[in-house]
Amino acid sequence: MAETKRDYYEVLGVSKDASADEIKKAYRKKAIQYHPDRNPDDKEAEEKFKEAAEAYDVLSDAEKRAKYDQFGHSMGQGFGGGGSYSGGFGGFGGGMSMEDIFAHFGDIFGGRFSSDDSFGGFGGAAHGGPRKHVNKGTDLRITVKVTLKDIMNGVDKKLKIPRLVACEHCKGTGAKDGTAFHTCQRCHGSGYVTTVQQTFMGPMQSQSVCPECNGEGKVITEKCSYCHGSGVVKKEEIVSFHIPAGVENDMVLTMRGQGNAPRNGGVNGDLLIKIQEEKDPELIRDGNDLIYNLMLDFPTAALGGTAEVPTVDGRARVKIAAGTQPGKVLRLRGKGLPRMNSSVRGDLLVNVMVYVPEQLSDAEKAAVESLKDQPNIVPSKSTSDRIFSRLRHIFSRENEGE
Ligand SMILES: [Zn+2]
Ligand SMILES: [Zn+2]
Repeated sequence: MAETKRDYYEVLGVSKDASADEIKKAYRKKAIQYHPDRNPDDKEAEEKFKEAAEAYDVLSDAEKRAKYDQFGHSMGQGFGGGGSYSGGFGGFGGGMSMEDIFAHFGDIFGGRFSSDDSFGGFGGAAHGGPRKHVNKGTDLRITVKVTLKDIMNGVDKKLKIPRLVACEHCKGTGAKDGTAFHTCQRCHGSGYVTTVQQTFMGPMQSQSVCPECNGEGKVITEKCSYCHGSGVVKKEEIVSFHIPAGVENDMVLTMRGQGNAPRNGGVNGDLLIKIQEEKDPELIRDGNDLIYNLMLDFPTAALGGTAEVPTVDGRARVKIAAGTQPGKVLRLRGKGLPRMNSSVRGDLLVNVMVYVPEQLSDAEKAAVESLKDQPNIVPSKSTSDRIFSRLRHIFSRENEGE
C-alpha cells in the first residue's frame, strides 16, 4: 500500500530542501488546480487534491517532515493502523477526507479557501448546494510517559481526558431541547451570504459566513440550560490509543477528531499526544541501541565466566572470556529497540569495566602482594601494545566483537 505512494516532494513539485514558503505556494497552486469546485465529478482531480493535501500536511509540519525525510512513507503504517479508535492517527497518509482537508487547510488562502465560502465564484453547486461553514474544535494536548518496555513492544493506553463534547440535552444545538431556534432571516438558513470580491483570480462572487447567525443558519430563541447555549459541555471521557513500538522522546502522535467538540456543532479538534520517555535506571538509549555499563570483578575478567546484564525483557547472562580487558564492548544483537514501523532492531552494547578494589583487608592485601611478582601479572611491552591496538577505538563502538 505505502509503496505505491508518490513521494510527497514530487507530489507538490518541490525540491527536498524547499522552504516552508515554497511548499505552501506549491500546495496552493495544486489545490487551485485540482479543487473540486473547478473539477466537478472528476474523481482523478479529487484524488490529486487529496494527495496534495496529504503531502502538504506532512511537509508543512517541521516535525512530520523530518520524520518523513528519515523514514519515508513507512512512517504511516503504524500510525494509520490499529483502527480501534475513530480516525486513527492522522498526519502520515492516513486517508484524509475532503472535510478534513477543508477543516485543516482552509486558511491557506487567507481564509477564503475554506468550506464556508467554497472557493470564490466557483460556488458549491457541484456538491448539490453550498456547503455550510464547518467549525473545528480546539486541539487537546497531553503528555504520555512511556518506559523502555513500552517502546520495545508498543503499548495500549487508556486515559481519562476532560474534553468538550456535544451537549446531549440539546444535541449540540445550544437551543432548549434542541428545538428552540428558528431559521436565520438574513441568510435563510444557508449560513452564508454572497458578496463580490477582488481576488487573485480576478473579480469573483464569493460567499462568506453570515454575520447574523455566524454561519449556523439558525438563531436560538431559548438557550439550553445545561450548556448555556454553547452546545458543548466538559466531560471526562476514557480515550484508548496505541503507542507504536520504537517511538522517541518528544515525538507527537495525532489522533484526528479526538480533541474538543466545537461550539455549535462541526468537526472535533485533534488529540495531540506527546511522548515522554522515562529514563531507565540501568539502560541508556542511543537511538535504537541500548547501552549497559558492566562493572566486572577482576577474578571474572581474568579467569572468565559469566555476568548478568539487564535487557528490556529481563536479565540475560553473557559469557566473559578469560583475559577480558576493560574497554571491551560486547554486542548483543537484536536486544536493542525496534525502529518504528520496521522489523529492524537495535543492539544491546555492554561496555565492560573492570573493578579495581578500593579498600582491602590485610589478608587481601597479602594476596594481591603475592601476585605482583608472578610472571603474567605485569604486562610486557608487546602485550600492552597488542591490547592497546585492539582497543584503539575505546571511546567508539568499533572495538566490539574481537
Ligand atoms: Zn444567517
Ligand atoms: Zn445544551
